[in-house]
Amino acid sequence: MKIDLHSHTNHSDGLLPVAELLARAISCNLDVLAITDHDTVSALPQAAAWLTETQAPLTLINGVEISTAWHEFEIHIVGLNIKPDCPQFLARLASQQQRRLQRAEEMARRLEKAQIPGALEAVLAEVGDGAITRSHFARFLVKTGRADSMNAVFKKYLARGKTGYVPNNWVDLASAVQWIHDAGGQAVLAHPLKYNLNGRYLKRLVTDFAAAGGDAMEIISPQQTPVQRRELWALCQQHQLTASVGSDFHQPTAWNELGKHLYLPDDVTPVWVSWGLISKRAVSESKAEPQAEPESELNRTAAKSAASTISMDTPT
Ligand code: AMP
Ligand code: MN
Ligand code: MN
Ligand code: MN
Repeated sequence: MKIDLHSHTNHSDGLLPVAELLARAISCNLDVLAITDHDTVSALPQAAAWLTETQAPLTLINGVEISTAWHEFEIHIVGLNIKPDCPQFLARLASQQQRRLQRAEEMARRLEKAQIPGALEAVLAEVGDGAITRSHFARFLVKTGRADSMNAVFKKYLARGKTGYVPNNWVDLASAVQWIHDAGGQAVLAHPLKYNLNGRYLKRLVTDFAAAGGDAMEIISPQQTPVQRRELWALCQQHQLTASVGSDFHQPTAWNELGKHLYLPDDVTPVWVSWGLISKRAVSESKAEPQAEPESELNRTAAKSAASTISMDTPT
């Protein structure tokens, strides 16, 4: 089964609308996709409706990516299988959105002082009802010629300590894990190698996350070496965490694609081990095959091959 448990739509800082993201997932042969927008679940009802309407053979996992504060770092916690209509959870996410708006106002003030006016208006016009993120500011700055790539613009204006960076007051890490559990989901430490932590801090982070009741860690992200994957899995095992996989897809690029190269080694326990996932694609393909006599060899072989496609042990 092909599984990707970390992706974004234009309800936060992804570029694709919900239907385009789902259609892309299907053309990439994904069986399972989690939509995990930043501090919002507003894409999820639309995604569910689209899948019902199209009957596409894709399983949607209701997800979210919560920004949290841990020491002086911003750590992202993905929630999987959360209930997207839980009122308490929605109110908690609304508090994060309020923090996002206040931060955006302050970012725009700072940029204006640095002779870059009009950022807030431009960003709000692009965001609509979605989550306001630094990526929106980055796109505005690229569009208005302040830098020529997202990476360069983050380095110059939006990274910690730069003109447009405003420290945030995110929910603390342990509370975010609790929020996800209260909403019926599993908490996953996202892209642990993206925080530029040294080895000692990374171990402290995983220890604190596990102590807070965290469930899993993303050990498979794009552009990681096999050695890094092994080290992350070793950390998971030390703390009884399961493993997750995610592209963190935001938009089509030359270096990232939904579900691409997210192979989980056979000896790893995946976060979905108890979800009872089945490949809708394999089921619909086996239904489409011509039916032979019930007891024929052909039929028994077809049943066997469908069963092996849905096995949890096959690489994703
Ligand atoms: P925020 O949650 O508003 O602080 O925005 C963080 C988002 O900015 C991340 O989820 C990434 O999508 C994006 N981001 C962070 N650093 C970079 C970078 N160097 N280049 C491009 N995008 C980045
Ligand atoms: Mn993002
Ligand atoms: Mn993230
Ligand atoms: Mn993400």
